[in-house]
Amino acid sequence: MEPLDRATIWPYRSGDPGELYYQRYAHPNGLEAERALGELEGGEALLFPSGTGAATALVLALLEPGQTIALAEGAYFGTGVLLEALARWGVRHVEFDQTGPSPAGVDFVWLEAPSNPFLTMPDLEAAVASPARVVVDSTASTPVYLRPLEHGADFALHSATKFLGGHDDVLLGAVVCRSPEDAQRLRDFRSQTGIVAAPDPCWLLSRSLKTLAVRMERHTANATDLVERLRAHPAVELVRYPGFGGLLSFDVADADAARRVETSLRRIGNATSLGGVESVLESRTRWEGDRVPPGLLRLSVGLEDVDELWADLEQALA
Ligand code: PLP
Repeated sequence: MEPLDRATIWPYRSGDPGELYYQRYAHPNGLEAERALGELEGGEALLFPSGTGAATALVLALLEPGQTIALAEGAYFGTGVLLEALARWGVRHVEFDQTGPSPAGVDFVWLEAPSNPFLTMPDLEAAVASPARVVVDSTASTPVYLRPLEHGADFALHSATKFLGGHDDVLLGAVVCRSPEDAQRLRDFRSQTGIVAAPDPCWLLSRSLKTLAVRMERHTANATDLVERLRAHPAVELVRYPGFGGLLSFDVADADAARRVETSLRRIGNATSLGGVESVLESRTRWEGDRVPPGLLRLSVGLEDVDELWADLEQALA
């Protein structure tokens, strides 16, 4: 591993700043993590203090007041909340069904692959055929399962807090750009506004990327197994899973039944977020209200022994 370097300043050389001079502009652990993620995605990666920070920077740096974003309906709840907050700065958004073509006349298309917690996959081919620029939030796919830039998207966005970080110990976000011009604009905006990721989380991301492929393989194996067992369980009405990755959701009868599952778990954590090595489950109505079915439970499947996970789910569903 690269050493962790928390320096905020580096001395000038012969009276002039070198590549590194002040941490807000660049620092060694950020550059190293961006290099590794950029290589995985096939573009230029820029890190931000959270996935939400990355999304904020993307909108404010690359859109103009008066422009419109078409946002995938059923995408991460917080993305809609963010775009609502940014409406004060003149950026509008409309929602659309990402499994079909994006609406005409928009400037930017915001897809999520797969959507959280509905697990739909976007029609990426249709989106990139439109004149609008396209961002794919591929937090739950990771570059192991989807490299959006290879499919013609302009940007891939990540909450690196999730599978990329992978251990529930780092809050971080990333935008990966196809064009060096966009990357430079975003980098300048990041330095100007100070929405920068600190060295410690970048170091943790570099550590985590080394095991990303094997973790994703195990997340998928465990989730695939649990999906099959959940589909056969009489208390489960519907299971949503895109066929890869560690994120799934399923419906039980109603909000009371969902609460009983949440409070009966012994092995699986009852907590928010996703993408960690340990499984967590939560009812999403507490955050999203009637946008989701009252009995919807989101499960982030970790790397534990799958029979132990099933035993816990089965006793909680009983
Ligand atoms: N995108 C998706 C798909 C998410 O699930 C989340 C968080 O849950 C975010 C973005 C926001 O990321 P962060 O919590 O790192 O700000």
